[in-house]
Amino acid sequence: MGTGTVPTRATRISTTYMAAFQYFKQNIHKSARLIGLTDAELEAFQKPDRILHADLTIPLDEGGTATFPAYRVQFNNARGPYKGGIRFHPGADEDEVSALSAIMAVKCAVVGIPFGGAKGGVAVDPKKLSQKEIFELARAYVRAFSEWLGPDIDIPAPDMYTTPEIMAVMLDEYERIVGKSLPAMITGKPLSIGGSAGRDTATADGAIAVLSALLLERSIDASHISAAVQGAGNAGAQAARLLQTMAIKVIALADSKGTLMKETGLDVAAVLATKEFSGSVLDAVSDGTRLADASAVITTAADIFVPAALEEQITKANIAAVKASIILEIANGPLTPEADEYLAARGVVVIPDVLANAGGVTVSYFEWMQNRMGERWSRTNVKTKLQGAMCDAYREVADFAADRGVTLRQAAYALALTKIIEAMKARGRI
Ligand code: NAD
Repeated sequence: MGTGTVPTRATRISTTYMAAFQYFKQNIHKSARLIGLTDAELEAFQKPDRILHADLTIPLDEGGTATFPAYRVQFNNARGPYKGGIRFHPGADEDEVSALSAIMAVKCAVVGIPFGGAKGGVAVDPKKLSQKEIFELARAYVRAFSEWLGPDIDIPAPDMYTTPEIMAVMLDEYERIVGKSLPAMITGKPLSIGGSAGRDTATADGAIAVLSALLLERSIDASHISAAVQGAGNAGAQAARLLQTMAIKVIALADSKGTLMKETGLDVAAVLATKEFSGSVLDAVSDGTRLADASAVITTAADIFVPAALEEQITKANIAAVKASIILEIANGPLTPEADEYLAARGVVVIPDVLANAGGVTVSYFEWMQNRMGERWSRTNVKTKLQGAMCDAYREVADFAADRGVTLRQAAYALALTKIIEAMKARGRI
């Protein structure tokens, strides 16, 4: 425990409705109509169970202290304990964290894992803190919210600018408070203290499993199609590798500095090796490659576009120039609602974020199971189970979409909403 830390106990603040919720709500409203929810049921679903706020004060290396607002929003636990990451980001506020907690509830329901939804955040620029100060903040977060956390209550995980190392410190602080070993209280831990094999690549592995299921269902031969990947970080790099393994030609790969293109297909492993060394895909120039600005990847003439970087990448401004016929949303919210509607009308198949990037939380569930059972599963075992879970989820969503003549996004939301409302009704909450 850090010395001189002054933790603040979490206080309960009123439930509010927020601007960041708007996107999510549009999808929820459409789906609610689709499954015939009553206004009362919809209202009950949309209200977060609990919004917690605390101000975390930590000692600074140079002396003195600093205080940061922190949040934990527990959206819904009708299907199981609350589950969701904690981000350390200057933009984290009650609205953002609340909206993300709702999306987590939907995501867990889409892939059928027995968790509810939650999210946490601290409004801080972690780049301005030393590692010691970041760890102090992690411990202060757990001290503030500890009574609301636990393997059967609410299970955090890493999110923006939080890491397995931060999860380890959070677990340590939690176990110090409760006085016993409870590794299942947090996921995304390092392997040495109960993290799961396969968590590092789970998001991309899950996304590619869903894409493969879709290609198989539509009898699309992977060796005849191409892909463009936006983002070469944790998720995008692994997705690009897997696409190439499937014999799909990766004709464009972008990071924040620009897009590297090659019509006959990039050597993804070589590009990523160069990026690892130099910091950008743009340094991997070779015969036949072209360089373009970062946004060029969005409108590349590839059959599949994989946004794996930022939200709101396809908007009114660039929508008409999008050429892909399949979009695999690894990033959260890469399409604006207008773009989504326009692309659906054009027959573009969008594999929605709540399904496409749910591999991470699915392997978090596997980590929680392993911790509770005292087991360690091999990477192969985790990957096989993940593949099964993602393909099952895809099948359910695709069947619903086909039956009802709606998009995969509408189907995913409608199914999730059905499962959550059923659980709330079974508990007599509505
Ligand atoms: P990351 O920080 O590891 O990588 C982000 C990548 O995007 C970097 O390569 C960066 O250079 C690139 N990038 C930034 N701005 C860009 C731009 N304008 N054009 C092109 N590339 C740009 O992040 P990540 O973990 O790979 O996550 C990527 C996205 O996937 C995020 O939206 C995240 O919320 C979502 N996601 C990730 C996970 C996960 O487990 N990693 C899980 C669910 C959702």
